[in-house]
Amino acid sequence: MLRRLDLRAAPLPRTADLRGLLPRADVDVDAVLHQVRPIVDAVRERGVEAALEFAEQFEKVRPSGVRVPVQTLNGALAALDPSVRTALETSIERARKVHDEQRRADIVTGVVPGGTVTERFVPVRRVGLYAPGGLAVYPSSVVMNVVPAQAAGVESLVVASPPQAEHGGLPHPTILAAAALLGVEEVWAVGGAQAVALLAYGGTDTDGAELAPVDMVTGPGNVYVTAAKRLLRGFIGIDAEAGPTEIAVLADHTADPVHVAADLISQAEHDPNAASVLVTTSPALADAVDAELGRQVPQTKHTERIRTALTGPQSGAVLVDGLANGITVVDAYAAEHLEIQTEDARSVALQVRNAGAIFVGPYAPVSLGDYCAGSNHVLPTGGCARHSAGLSVQTFLRGVHIVEYTEDALRDVADQVVTLATAEDLPAHGQAVTARFAP
Ligand code: NAD
Repeated sequence: MLRRLDLRAAPLPRTADLRGLLPRADVDVDAVLHQVRPIVDAVRERGVEAALEFAEQFEKVRPSGVRVPVQTLNGALAALDPSVRTALETSIERARKVHDEQRRADIVTGVVPGGTVTERFVPVRRVGLYAPGGLAVYPSSVVMNVVPAQAAGVESLVVASPPQAEHGGLPHPTILAAAALLGVEEVWAVGGAQAVALLAYGGTDTDGAELAPVDMVTGPGNVYVTAAKRLLRGFIGIDAEAGPTEIAVLADHTADPVHVAADLISQAEHDPNAASVLVTTSPALADAVDAELGRQVPQTKHTERIRTALTGPQSGAVLVDGLANGITVVDAYAAEHLEIQTEDARSVALQVRNAGAIFVGPYAPVSLGDYCAGSNHVLPTGGCARHSAGLSVQTFLRGVHIVEYTEDALRDVADQVVTLATAEDLPAHGQAVTARFAP
C-alpha cells in the first residue's frame, strides 16, 4: 500500500536533494494560497457578513451570530457525556502539569556595574485559538491551545471553531463543553480561513456587539487554515504552521508491524492530505507493515480517507542502510510526529535534531500525545520542524529587554558606541551619547 523508496544502494544524497526525494503532499499550503487570499480579503472588507457567507458555502449553514452565548457553553458542559468529561479532565490535568513548568521568571543580567538588562517575559494580550472542526472535531485542540495560553498569563482569549449544520450553526457541543471546562467564556462560530481573518481583523456581530481583533492566532487546521495564517503573519503573530498531520516512524527489525501499521493509520485518519511515512532498516518489516495495512485499513471507520492519505504522494516507506542513515532521513524530513521503534530507542531519539515531537519505544504511540501524554499536540508540519517548535507557553510570551544604565556606566562605554556609530556612518548615534557629557 505504501509507495516504496529504496535509498540503500548508494550513499545518501545531500540533505537538500534528499528533501526533494522524500514523500510530500502535492496539495500543500502554497498550492491553496490563491484560493485563500480572496477569503481573507473579503473578511477584511466586509467582516462578519463575508464570514457568514463562507460558512454557507463551506459548512452549509448560516449561524445566527458569531459569538456563542456563555449560557450555551455552560449548557454544553452540563450535557457532556461524563466519560468524555473525565477523559478531557485527564488531558487538561496532564497538559497543565507540563505547561505550568514552562513558565519563565524574568532574567536580570548585571552587564557591568551600574548597567543591567532585564528580560521580562510579557504575554501577548489577546489571542485567537483555532480548534478544527471539518472532517473531525477537535476538543483536544481546545485543550492544547488554551492550557499554554492560560499558563502564559494571556489576558484575553477567544476560541474559534467551525459552525456545524447538524448543531444549528454552533461549533460541535464537545468543543463548547471543552471551552467551558477550561473556563473560556468567548467562543466564535467561525471556521477555516475566514476564522483566521475574522480573528485578525475583528468585526461587528449580527447583534451589533464588537468582535475584538486579536494580536495572535494559534492552533492547528487544514491547508486552508494554515494558508490563512501564512498570509496574515506579520499583521498578527502566529505559532508554527500546524497543518495536515504527519507521522514518521523510524523502525528497525525489532519493531512490531501491527503497532507500526496502527500508528500510521491513526494519523492518516485525520485528513486525506495527512502523511504517514515509514523509515526502516528492515525490508522484512516494510513488507510486514504493508501486509498489516492491508488487513487493518478495511476495518477502520474512515477507510476511504485513510486509504487516500496512505496512497498519496505524501506517504511512503523509505528503506535505509543502517540507523545512522535513518536518522539523516528523518532529520531531512522533519516530521511533525516522529516515532522511534528501534533497539535502544531513547538513545536514537536523542540523536534526532528535527521533529515536532518524538515518541520513544513501543508504549508511546502518537495517539497518546494527541490526547493524554501531557505534551502539546499543536506541532509544526511541512518541514517547519527544522526551524520551529510546537505550541508552548513560550509561544505566547515575548521577551522584552529593559535596559538600565547609570551615568557612569554610560560614560565608560561612550567611546565604543561612538566608534561603532562612526564605523556604520551613523554619526548622530554617537552624538546622542556624547551630548549627555558635553561640558
Ligand atoms: P478545519 O477546521 O481545519 O477546516 C475546516 C474548514 O476548512 C471549513 O470550515 C472550511 O471553512 C475550510 N475549507 C474546506 N474546504 C475549503 C475550500 N475548498 N476552500 C476554502 N476553505 C475550505 O478542519 P479539518 O478539515 O477537519 O482539518 C483539521 C486539520 O487539522 C487536519 O488536516 C489535521 O491533520 C490537522 N491537525 C493538525 C495538527 C497539528 O498540530 N499539525 C493537530 C491536529 C489536527
